[in-house]
This record gives sequence, C-alpha cells and structure tokens, in this order.
Amino acid sequence: MYVRRMAVRKVVKFGGSSLASARQFRKVGDIIRADKTRRYVIPSAPGKRNNKDTKVTDLLYECYEAASTGASYKKILNQIRERYEEIINGLDLNLNLDHEFANIEENFVKGAGRDYAASRGEYLNGIVMAEYLGFEFIDAAEVIFFDENGNLEADNTNKELAERLEHVERAVIPGFYGSKHDGTIKTFSRGGSDVTGSIVARAIHADLYENWTDVSGFLVADPRVVENPEIIETITYKELRELAYMGASVLHEDAIFPVRKEGIPINIRNTNKPDDKGTLIVESTCRKPRYTITGIAGKKGFCAINIEKAMMNSEVGFGRKVLGVFEKFGISFEHMPSGIDTMTIMVHQSEFEEYEQSVIAGIHRAVEPDGVELESDLALIAVVGRGMKATRGTAGRIFSALAHARINVKMIDQGSSELNIIIGVKNNDFDQAIRAIYDIFVETEV
Ligand code: ASP
Repeated sequence: MYVRRMAVRKVVKFGGSSLASARQFRKVGDIIRADKTRRYVIPSAPGKRNNKDTKVTDLLYECYEAASTGASYKKILNQIRERYEEIINGLDLNLNLDHEFANIEENFVKGAGRDYAASRGEYLNGIVMAEYLGFEFIDAAEVIFFDENGNLEADNTNKELAERLEHVERAVIPGFYGSKHDGTIKTFSRGGSDVTGSIVARAIHADLYENWTDVSGFLVADPRVVENPEIIETITYKELRELAYMGASVLHEDAIFPVRKEGIPINIRNTNKPDDKGTLIVESTCRKPRYTITGIAGKKGFCAINIEKAMMNSEVGFGRKVLGVFEKFGISFEHMPSGIDTMTIMVHQSEFEEYEQSVIAGIHRAVEPDGVELESDLALIAVVGRGMKATRGTAGRIFSALAHARINVKMIDQGSSELNIIIGVKNNDFDQAIRAIYDIFVETEV
C-alpha cells in the first residue's frame, strides 16, 4: 500500500544570540536555505553580540521607561536603531526603517505599554528577516491572541493561525508577542519566542519544531558543576519537565505544551554548529538512552520540616491538616517523604523563613505532634531517566557513589513513575554529589 506523504513542514525558531549581528543572520540564512522544508521562521530580537553587550529587548524596556516618564530617551532609541542598521547594512538589504521608528517613538511617548515596547524587538527583526529571506511577513499581533487577563487564547490562536498559514508557503512570524482583543500588544514572559514557535508548529501540524540557539542541546549536567558534560541526544517531554523544574533551562517552560498536544518533536540546535544533531525532545521513544540516566539537575536552598508523632499512621487526615498550615501561609511544598511516625515537608527556604515560627505553632495546634524539627540549607538533586525503569540497581549505584564521595544523604524520594529519584543533601555537598552521580553513570557506564 502506498501512502501519500504530505509535504514536510518545519517551524524554525532562532534565539537572540543567533540574530545578534549580520554575521549571525547569514548563518541563519544558510541554515534555512539548506533545507526547503524549513518554511516558517520565528525570530527573537537581536541578543548579545558579546558578554558586555545588551539585548535589544532590555534596551527597549529601558527606552520606554524613559520616554513614557518624560525623561530623555533619544540616546537609547538611537542605540536600538543602530543595532538594526548594522544588521541591514551588513546584509546589503534595501530596507528603510524610518517610518517604523517614527511610529515606535510616537507610541512610546504616548505610553503604549511596556509589552508593546518590548515586542518591537521581535517585530523589527521579523521585518528584517522576511526581507532577507524573501518570505512573507506576518505580524504576530494578527494571529496570536490573549484574553483581557493576559492569558493566551490557545484555541482561538490555533484556529486563526491554521487558517492564515494554510495558503502561505513560507513566512516569518516574530516571536514573543500577540495582541488582546482591544488591539493592545501583550508579550509572553521573557524568553517567550520559544512559545510562539511551539504555537505555530501546532497550528500547521509541523513535522518538527527546530529551536536554534547557541548550545548544541541539553547537557546531562550543569557545566558549571561538571566539566564538559555530555549532550542529551533524546529526551522525553516528561523527563524535560523534571529537569527543567530543578533548574535546567534552555527552553521556555511553556514551550512544550502546544507541541505536546500534537506529538510534535522539538529539536534543539546550535546556530554556530549546525552540523551538531542537538537534542531531540519527544513524547515517547523506543530509542534506548545512552546511559541509564538522562540527566541530573538540582537546586539549593531548601528547608525540611520534620514532624514526629507516635501512631501518626493511624490518624486519618493528619497529612491534610499539616499541609493546611502551609497553605494558610501561601507556602508551596516541594516534596513530602514520610515514615510510619514521621512526615517531612520540604519547602523553599526563602519562602518559608518569614513564617517559620507561625508554621511551627500552626502544626502544633493542628495535629499535636510529639516534636517538630527544622533542618535548613539543604539541596535537592533530581536524577532523571526513563531508562531507570528497566534497570536494576540504579538507586544502589547512586547511593554507593555518594557514600564513596563521603556525602551524607538526607532524604530520598522516588516517584512511582520510576522516572526520577530525588536526593536531599546539604547545600555544601551539592556540587560534589552531582559530580559523583555523573561519574558513576556517564564516565563509568559504557
Ligand atoms: N526577546 C525576548 C527576551 O529577551 C524574548 C525571546 O528572546 O524569546 O526575553
């Protein structure tokens, strides 16, 4: 049986550092032209050209702040303009942004809003990119919608975008913003062009969402802790959630939801090393992970509240009452390992400190415990991997590695999905613990 294959369509998003200069734009142009299926392009605003540089988005916030409060802003506006002119001239484009800048200046002075201001970075970069590639420019304000509370109208947006792009072969749609029904511009939170790319990919049922940035994918561990860590080849959405929650970041948190609805994979790629395969993020895969674990991530600054009470286990509603105290003070809990007569609540120290004594008193009143003890300055480390389910002895290996490194494990929590093991250690042991776990799985495992 023959199956008629529809034309492959990819959505490609380029981050700020990929579009920071004419030189970077040329790399992007080469990438897009190298693959005809790369049809819909989502640009960020020009980012930093070097460590000392400022992102155009930050310049725009600063400029708007000045213009809307009557302070002098022309210098910053010129600086922004120069960034675009450098790109336009460097690409030999015949494009004049006079009119656009006059319009932006007028709106800034009128007080068109911070979101409007920030969005101009992507808007102008979209115009430049469309001119450079010879693609159609579609203003995101016409296709991405927010309700009056500033929440994305996902279905409405999806419908509009699908209709609009149905007959458009190739287009540039700026990232990061959309509009409300009254026409005002609204942005996503910082780094939100990732979300735009995902929304567009969903709307056109893309085969792949390529997210081009300045790293060759997700790393197995934080390079500030582990020297030269390996790159993760394939990761599932769920694994990514676990790692991102623990602080590993490359992609905007909300970017996975739209594509996940459609089962579209995301490929993180490096504009500066286009031959690297990057990391593929998928719903599910038969591909065996190279190592038992996919990644390690962690955060410092937790506090454990240990509650003890004899016969706690037979007291119905005990947990609810304890958690009710935290709820009352608006403190969210991160983990809750428990024993027969003990229960531990892990919280962010910074959130908890202010209410510490009130929470202890509250727990006494709510459940009359035998004792409540606090332990502060703890770090949580998540060891994440879909491979753990099928492998025996993972936990054993982690703990023997930690024991060898002379690290005292304060807490252990394994989710029932067997996708992750969370380990609590002292803040001071954090780096060493991550290195020990990395070594045992990545350096020693072949
Ligand atoms: N330009 C925006 C920012 O700097 C959005 C983005 O780059 O995704 O946050």
